[in-house]
Amino acid sequence: MTATENAAEPVVRYEVVDGIAFVTMNRPQYRNAQNSAMTYALDEAFYRAAADDAVSVIVLRGEGKHFSAGHDIGTPGRDVDQSFERRAGLWWDHVGRPGGESRYARESEVYLGMCKRWRELPKSVIAQVHGACIAGGLMLAWICDFIIASDDAFFADPVVRMGIPGVEYFAHPWVMGTRQAKEFLYLGERISAQRAEQWGMVNHVVPRAELAEFTESMARRIAVMPRFGLALTKKAINQAEDLMGLSTGMDSVFGLHHFAHAHNAEVGQDSLAGQDARSMRDSRRGAEGGDA
Ligand code: ZN
Repeated sequence: MTATENAAEPVVRYEVVDGIAFVTMNRPQYRNAQNSAMTYALDEAFYRAAADDAVSVIVLRGEGKHFSAGHDIGTPGRDVDQSFERRAGLWWDHVGRPGGESRYARESEVYLGMCKRWRELPKSVIAQVHGACIAGGLMLAWICDFIIASDDAFFADPVVRMGIPGVEYFAHPWVMGTRQAKEFLYLGERISAQRAEQWGMVNHVVPRAELAEFTESMARRIAVMPRFGLALTKKAINQAEDLMGLSTGMDSVFGLHHFAHAHNAEVGQDSLAGQDARSMRDSRRGAEGGDA
């Protein structure tokens, strides 16, 4: 949280209506770019929803024009150099650690660790996606049980432009298929909600004006199912996904991800190959022939 953000506005909003917890990312001025403050607020919200007997289903969504532009790599609220009370694992605080140690400890906690744990939340979680769902935003949508997208939603993981093989939660081959994952990553371009649906990554595409109602209706229908039965069903499918290699696959790619960060830092000036939000946007415009 910085002076440029309204201190009265939480970075994540949490509301419960008729057994449905709405978890809303709330940095619309930065397209819901995810800083650590937001990550820990999401963690708090998911814990709260898991513990609350009045909550059966959780909907994750974004305030403003977009679901999420990804990890915060350039807003005034970027907080990669700050300590938080760690929640996802036993890695020590990353602040002040040398070289790759700092990045590895931080990303083990706030990216891979948090996301893997959120995937295990024993209640149903639906991603309600509109507008941009880019890079780190994909991680948030992918930890949900399924994705409802509006017809204006688009998805991209452009971090190969940083010389890095995809975002930290490397679920790509499992959520869209291997050939699609290669196209998605090699080009780094946006795909439409309709394309994402064809690839099996998105469950439903609905008109923007109907997105909230469609998602809520589905959440209400799930909410009347037996809670423990739903939890066991989720675990059953997650276990099947893990038997197809998701969890161990992501762990192994996390090593390549950090090798790429370290390589960037060794041969250049930083672990992101000198890229920031502006240069990523400019390179996308160049590659795609220019648009907003
Ligand atoms: Zn990283």
